[in-house]
Amino acid sequence: MKKTVLQDTQRILDLISKRDLDDDEKKQLIDETVDNFNDYINPGFLRYRKSFSPDYVAVEWTDSGSMFTCVKGIEYIDCLGGYGIYNVGHRHPKVLKAVKDQLQRQALHSQELLDPLRGYLAKILAELAPGNLKYTFFTNSGTESVEGALKMALLATGRRVVIGAVGGFHGKSLGSLSATSKAVFRKPFLSSLHEMRHIPFNDLDVLEQTLACLKFTGDDAAAVLLEPILGEGGIIIPNDDYFPGVRRLCDKYGALLIADEVQTGMGRTGKMFCIEHWNVEPDILCLGKAFGGGIMPAGAFIGSDKLWKPIFNNPFLHTTTFGGSPLACAAAIATINVICEERLSDLARITGDIFLAKLKTTIKPYTPHITLDARGKGLMLALEFVDTDIGFRVSKGLFRERILVAGTLVNAKTIRIEPPLTITLEQVDIVIMALDKVLKEISNEIRPPSSNNDSHVRTTSSNNVKQTVLSQQL
Ligand SMILES: *Cc1c(COP(=O)(O)O)cnc(C)c1O
Repeated sequence: MKKTVLQDTQRILDLISKRDLDDDEKKQLIDETVDNFNDYINPGFLRYRKSFSPDYVAVEWTDSGSMFTCVKGIEYIDCLGGYGIYNVGHRHPKVLKAVKDQLQRQALHSQELLDPLRGYLAKILAELAPGNLKYTFFTNSGTESVEGALKMALLATGRRVVIGAVGGFHGKSLGSLSATSKAVFRKPFLSSLHEMRHIPFNDLDVLEQTLACLKFTGDDAAAVLLEPILGEGGIIIPNDDYFPGVRRLCDKYGALLIADEVQTGMGRTGKMFCIEHWNVEPDILCLGKAFGGGIMPAGAFIGSDKLWKPIFNNPFLHTTTFGGSPLACAAAIATINVICEERLSDLARITGDIFLAKLKTTIKPYTPHITLDARGKGLMLALEFVDTDIGFRVSKGLFRERILVAGTLVNAKTIRIEPPLTITLEQVDIVIMALDKVLKEISNEIRPPSSNNDSHVRTTSSNNVKQTVLSQQL
């Protein structure tokens, strides 16, 4: 064994145990992190991170509530929410306590004795989930939840083809990637992907035609796999009659309806599960992201007893070593408790309505030359820009104002705003003010202010040069 590994690991262990670093330690940590990303992770990542440029590096160190703090002590308002994992906020005390308490007794399960938290959590999910959803399989991620749900659907129906949506995102393992729609992610692996039909979202006629054509050719659809709101696809909200219609068509053609609530679930859109907005019962519900309370990686898929029958006789048809660990279950139980106790679904709806109204007012002067739309449900919000370049400039500008947002993976000209559901109205106002400032700057860069220009352009012209220089630096 190399001697340096012992020394290196010890030095990092010492670092982990520290809360505060002195200036030299901070500098060393930042420099080494950049080098390590370049040399051992993937230098490509650094090109995409707004937190990195030759003269500016933000390395994260602590987090709490709706904020996280970099090594230098700069605080950011988290409107990205880890792509939707921080619904109860960063390190919610109750979730943290549950995980710590569990850790004091036992971390992972024996795999042979019966682990009690798995059973309790499954029962709670059966109470919580819509309709007849009853049996749960626990996973470590959203991707694994989708992967397992697809296998269950193939098993239960004995059919093969799955229908998904153009703009849909479901993960990147071979099974879930099949369902993900974007060509750049799929093309290199096409020959290994499962058979899918991707059709336009929010269009019942096309769905019916597709189901009918598949039936005609004997390739009957096993399942229709959809996000209730397209997340990575740009926060696309369907008409109110869409999911009831999808349910009806699935029943008519004997296809299962799989709701991928990895991003929309756990209170995000103003209901515990988004599909409840339309009173629709899916056959399988997939969870991930916020399910572990922003503390543990945790996911699940839940189905009816009819569906689970094929694996009663052979539960080893689908297994996982870490899924549903005591730590993950403790985190998920605490997360559900917090969402109920603090009425976070209601809060998401109330804060979301206020936030969206303010976003709409803020972008009005910049529409349609810079911004196109502000939309959302609950605290799953989005801003759409005229092109990807403007979208990137706005997120970069907001980052400089210490607010984190991010693009969507499938539709890059849309940025998503998915803060913790606990974000305060004061924090919302800070975000709105920063957004207005950034949009003004971009507007001035695109259309230099002239004497007869409207007032909002004129008022910032004195700061404009300074701000432009700053934004170029960042
Ligand atoms: C993020 C996401 C996934 C994948 O989850 P991972 O935890 O990244 O594996 C699947 N489906 C949807 C809708 C998602 O937003």
